[in-house]
Amino acid sequence: MSALAKNYNRRKIAFKKGKGSFLYATNGKKYLDFVQGIAVNSLGHANPYLIKAINKQANKVWHVSNAFIIPEGEKLAKRIKQKTFADYVIFQNSGTEATEAAIKVARRYFYSKGKPYKNRILCIKNSFHGRTIAAIFASGSKKMTEGFGPKVPGFDHIEFRKFKPRFPNIRSKIKKNTAAIMVETIMGEGGIKSIPDKCLKYLRKICNEKKILLILDEVQCGIGRSGDFFAFEKSKVKPDIVPIAKGIGGGFPIGAVLMTKKVSSAMVPGTHGSTFGGNPLAMSVGNAVLDKIFEKGFLKNVKKISKYFYNELNKIKSDYPKLIKEVRGSGLLIGLQLFKDQKLFIQKLEDNKMLTIRAAENVVRILPPLNVKKYEINLGIKIIRKVCKEL
Ligand SMILES: *Cc1c(COP(=O)(O)O)cnc(C)c1O
Repeated sequence: MSALAKNYNRRKIAFKKGKGSFLYATNGKKYLDFVQGIAVNSLGHANPYLIKAINKQANKVWHVSNAFIIPEGEKLAKRIKQKTFADYVIFQNSGTEATEAAIKVARRYFYSKGKPYKNRILCIKNSFHGRTIAAIFASGSKKMTEGFGPKVPGFDHIEFRKFKPRFPNIRSKIKKNTAAIMVETIMGEGGIKSIPDKCLKYLRKICNEKKILLILDEVQCGIGRSGDFFAFEKSKVKPDIVPIAKGIGGGFPIGAVLMTKKVSSAMVPGTHGSTFGGNPLAMSVGNAVLDKIFEKGFLKNVKKISKYFYNELNKIKSDYPKLIKEVRGSGLLIGLQLFKDQKLFIQKLEDNKMLTIRAAENVVRILPPLNVKKYEINLGIKIIRKVCKEL
């Protein structure tokens, strides 16, 4: 009997080791892992470059307090600044901490401007920003908030619809006390639903007009997952605050909130902190992940190989039009939407030694490592095809 609480409905499978896109289970089987810790292991399992980086740092110093200068963190922040919209970074340990920090930055910004009443955050109903108390009420989903009252105040919700207008009545939802709009650029848990570039631009426009902040949650879709470093890049929209996590650590827990100079001015000493956030071990791994993702041609290859993957998946869709409703996503954040519940489909993939994971709206989420090889994609395609045939 497990002594772990039953807050997860765990699949009956455990692993003894991993290598790249594959996991070796204790049941003796070798699985194609297209979950990768839910978009976390951006460079696959047991990546030699990351192993080297973590070992090297482990032999020097693991952890020191943020009361001291941490050169590895200085370096990682500077690299993020050089390559993105961000001027400043605060490191955390997880996605939910990163979104919480984003909310704190937004509120503190208006406080520092003498407008403490501007503190409400407008979010998409049933989005996902993590599991801490504020983050669940930011998402506003009944499933996540039920039993965890009292309700945390300060969050308002808009709908995100598939058809136009995508954000009905958004203007009327922005009040004098609204501080920011916070959305996932691509809703991951919500079923791999992208906010179209035009809509992102529209959100930016409204934020400018109303003089409020735009927070884009890139915890799942960021760090190369979409084919660009950030999923919002191709829209040319410039956010004010961006929480990141998952992919930046390549499997090591790292979160961060990125921000512009304008809003960072509010984060004076004492306003936020974390014991573990940004420690030397985490920062060394983060730097090693970026070494690879910033390598010339790396993201171009994510785009190229994902295009191939989408093509193949769309061929399967047209062969099984009663089973697959839509192939969607961006880069290697892929959703296969079925007409009915996806549980059996995912189980059958697993029976055929391929691991995927669910998302809302009957979506099978497919998340290969960003350095996935073409033959591994082909193997995945073969297994998906076989399962479609069986169903
Ligand atoms: C996973 C996720 C989070 C929460 O990250 P944790 O590390 O689980 O706390 C927040 N936002 C988005 C968009 C996510 O996908």
